[in-house]
Amino acid sequence: VFRRSRALLAAAVLALAALAVVLAAPGGPAPPAVAQAPGPQDDPALPLVYVMSFDAQDGDRAIDQGRAPFLASLVRGEGASTTYYRDSRGIMVSETNPNHTAMATGAYADRSGIPGNTFAVSDAAGRESCPGDPTPDGPQVTSGEAATCVLAETFFTALKRTAPDVVTAGIFGKPKLGRLFSQQRVTPGTYDADHLWAPCEGDNDPPYCRTVPVDPVQNYARDTSVMDEVLRTVSTGVPVDGVLRRPNLTFVNFPTVDQTGHFTGAGSAYEDAIAMADQQLQRFVEQQRRLGLWERTVIFVTSDHSMDTTTSPQPNAISSRFGADADAVEVILNGSVNMVYLKDRDRPDRDALLARLRAAALTNPTVDEALFRRPNPADGGEQHTLDAVHPGWHLAGERTGDLVITARPSQKFGDGIPVGINPLSGNHGAPQTLDNTFAIVSGGGQVVQQALSATTTDPMRFDDTLANPGQSEQVDIAPTVMGLFGQRPPAQAAGRVLTEAFRPGTFAGVPGVDDGPGGACTAAAPPALGVRPRGAGLRFTLPALGSRTARIAVVRQSAGRRLTAPRTVARFTRGTSFTWSGRGQAARVTDGTYVVRAQLPVASGRTVERVVAVERRDGRFRTSGAAERRAPCGPVVLARLARPVFGGPQGRPLDVGVRLAARGRVRVELVRGGRVVGRTERTVPGGKTARLRVAARGVRPGAVEVRVRATVDGRSTTVRLRARRL
Ligand SMILES: [Zn+2]
Repeated sequence: VFRRSRALLAAAVLALAALAVVLAAPGGPAPPAVAQAPGPQDDPALPLVYVMSFDAQDGDRAIDQGRAPFLASLVRGEGASTTYYRDSRGIMVSETNPNHTAMATGAYADRSGIPGNTFAVSDAAGRESCPGDPTPDGPQVTSGEAATCVLAETFFTALKRTAPDVVTAGIFGKPKLGRLFSQQRVTPGTYDADHLWAPCEGDNDPPYCRTVPVDPVQNYARDTSVMDEVLRTVSTGVPVDGVLRRPNLTFVNFPTVDQTGHFTGAGSAYEDAIAMADQQLQRFVEQQRRLGLWERTVIFVTSDHSMDTTTSPQPNAISSRFGADADAVEVILNGSVNMVYLKDRDRPDRDALLARLRAAALTNPTVDEALFRRPNPADGGEQHTLDAVHPGWHLAGERTGDLVITARPSQKFGDGIPVGINPLSGNHGAPQTLDNTFAIVSGGGQVVQQALSATTTDPMRFDDTLANPGQSEQVDIAPTVMGLFGQRPPAQAAGRVLTEAFRPGTFAGVPGVDDGPGGACTAAAPPALGVRPRGAGLRFTLPALGSRTARIAVVRQSAGRRLTAPRTVARFTRGTSFTWSGRGQAARVTDGTYVVRAQLPVASGRTVERVVAVERRDGRFRTSGAAERRAPCGPVVLARLARPVFGGPQGRPLDVGVRLAARGRVRVELVRGGRVVGRTERTVPGGKTARLRVAARGVRPGAVEVRVRATVDGRSTTVRLRARRL
């Protein structure tokens, strides 16, 4: 028996070794046998950057309404520092392929080559490079899902070209995104991304595909499998020139929120999917922390578009209104957008024909707008063009329809579907689905802790990108990612480097980047302090302090419904992270509200105070949201609650201390369930801490969000804190 198992073992080892050789070939999957090896090669001087796209996730639902509680806690600055762009926008057409292409290239749809999930190409190069049924002439309908169809340079290609030491990975739950980003531009025969991963489809499978659980309809991987692969590449690395290395840039797509939304609309199942995707993000952050990588980590938590509930199953093919003109055009459905292509773009009566088509489309009450790609002398000249009406869309390229028709909110089109009935309960494509998710999260204080708001002009249409230059767009991701590696944006990028989200000096030396606003500010980021429930007590996570120590006090603020005089129940002087049992030293620890006050040493021998509020209920602590925010280089330098509790039988008001970098207007609002239940507002000087006081009258007991909105130089920033009315 012994002999036989030895032989089996030897055979198994040989087989594994052979497998490892096969799998270690460039482009092949990482050998599982190497998983036990010590950590992968990793240059600690390089950042670890992750672009995580949660397909179709609406940021308002995920963050503001708390459906993604872990992400919301990161946005509140708990264990992270985060810039949250509340009014970020995706690009038109508001679909997966155009927006992921924008993320990777920084180019809008008029130059990226990918204006929709389905579109048509007329040019010879496009016919050759974009997959589709060849047609003798006229528009060739294509999904565009080929690396050669993307005209703009991706960050994978740009990094391979300018910074080949930066290791890159693309991990996609949708096979089509693997195809879109499998360029081989730098070294023919080798992918520009060092590692690619997408589920197999069983048909012309690329070498990077993996057999993982997929949904049987669309063949998309589940979010769990996608995150399994992200975790694996971080912990064991990806093969680059025969060596396992940890990726520095990882671009990820999680498809499940989108799939759920298409089938059910943006209702409770969609929100459940957001919550499940959130657990995947939490798995990731926990592993980064466990591996000691969190301090180097920057995550762009984003989505390509949101989802509109479109349950009405009635026929709605716009082409049915075109009469005899229908034969002259190709109508391509993109959810709540139709792109109409002339079969002959050079026909002499093109202007009159397009004018008739536009008029016919507008007779349908579900149509919001119908706009020309080019000026039309037969119908208003420049007046009804994409560029004139929506200059922020940057949509009027060669591959866009000659007429672009959008559906009103909660409507969809059914062109090209039998009897014109689009069965999906959720659709996107039109501008009502442009509001996406966009937060930049960092573990080591690289990112400024802030929430940036904007003026929204039309809450149904979200066509306000140009009115809000301080907000982010999908095209900003690639330039910012490249900047984090000290490189210029990809060649066709139109977006900007999001300097305001990062500590000043982050992009110093990057060609073409002016690293202000607030470029004069040289203050260090506030040191991070982690406070988490552990058993009956609390776990305190301290930054690296060297030989210095932090002083920490746990101070009781209330007992039951009574505000009590502040009373210190425990006090510590420590140099490293530690756990407190929850037992009082100076006084009994009872249920109520507490603050943790920490004096943390910083460079130059000074200390900085951090304040964290916690609640104790039924003998256990729980975190209760931020009681202070610090951003030394932000417009709101400090926002802090004097105490995290107010009211009580005495009706004590809530005191908020606010320090702005420059003179500005501050409004403090108490918000519960989306309603403002208390407020105050005034102008405050720059550089000094001003106290604003909000009355407790009219506020019912319970938790409230404290929104501190500051307007300095016409730019508004919102900072959120949390308080409890007793
Ligand atoms: Zn999508």
